[in-house]
Amino acid sequence: MAAIDTLSRRRFLAAAGALGLGALAAPNWRSALAAPSCHSALAAPNWRSALAAPKQRAALAAPVDTTARSRLILLGTAGGPTPKALRAAPAQAVVVDDAVYIVDCGNGVARQMALAGLALGAIREVFLTHHHSDHNADYGNLLLLAWAADLRRPVGTWGPPPLVRMTRRFLQLNAEDIRIRIADEGRPPLAPLIRPHELRRGGVVMRDERVKVTAALVDHPPMAPAFAYRFDCPDRSIVFSGDTRPSPALVELARGADMLVHEVMYLPALERLIASEAQAGRLRQHLLDSHTTTEQVGRLATEAGVKTLVLSHFVPGGDASLTDEVWRAAVAPYFAGRLVIGRDLMEL
Ligand SMILES: [Zn+2]
Ligand SMILES: [Zn+2]
Repeated sequence: MAAIDTLSRRRFLAAAGALGLGALAAPNWRSALAAPSCHSALAAPNWRSALAAPKQRAALAAPVDTTARSRLILLGTAGGPTPKALRAAPAQAVVVDDAVYIVDCGNGVARQMALAGLALGAIREVFLTHHHSDHNADYGNLLLLAWAADLRRPVGTWGPPPLVRMTRRFLQLNAEDIRIRIADEGRPPLAPLIRPHELRRGGVVMRDERVKVTAALVDHPPMAPAFAYRFDCPDRSIVFSGDTRPSPALVELARGADMLVHEVMYLPALERLIASEAQAGRLRQHLLDSHTTTEQVGRLATEAGVKTLVLSHFVPGGDASLTDEVWRAAVAPYFAGRLVIGRDLMEL
């Protein structure tokens, strides 16, 4: 039983990094991506074509097929960057007909898709909520591995800056593998198949014949921008909170939704750790500034009037003593609708 109060300070500080606790964590990885850049800096000609003027705007008015049925699969449900035995890193799949839409790319997302029986080549769009590594570590890997499998059509990717630069650098990192597979296996170039779109504000960001996706800016300091996404599918609406403290914009985005998949933090388990820290008060405030407690998630789901609340991105996510019953008991007093305690590969 890996109770959280047995965790070492070092492990806790690693977890703190995922919670946006920059002062307590390893050097801020964002600094590595902070160099000024712009789209025009892209070097390879095929990248210019891959990043040509987004055509998605014209598709926003496309009609939605009202007969298709959607599936939601929780691919990974643990918050935080460190690998855990109990749960995989955050990722979700929305499936409509034969099209797969991915929300967040935590480590192992491609493997989780395989376990869920989803074809990698069926990915149509990939959405990142923000650039903490528990949400984006396998962004590039997902697409590289999908290409190595059966991906043959372009995939739109969506998320905060510097998504374009991150995509370009990922392809540079893997240039040797890509070059050899093109030459040796006759594969098409990968770069033109990835079409990144940087998001800076909320609103409808993508629409095709199956889904309409709306983004909202949420509060996850110091990470900004950070987004929640709402999928209006033919048969229902599903909202993904990403990482956020209780956010009025998220409540508005989720208003009346059929399903809200929301991050959750169990404060009593964290309090035990916090109590041992010299900067206990400050640390507690950091957590509350960036994330959502069990009580808060129940209250905001009630305020938004969602039919089903799905808990995911569990923090702590590696503590086996926190059973489904513990999570349920902590949220149920504040939400009278259907409450689902998420787990990896759960289909809803
Ligand atoms: Zn996270
Ligand atoms: Zn985060």
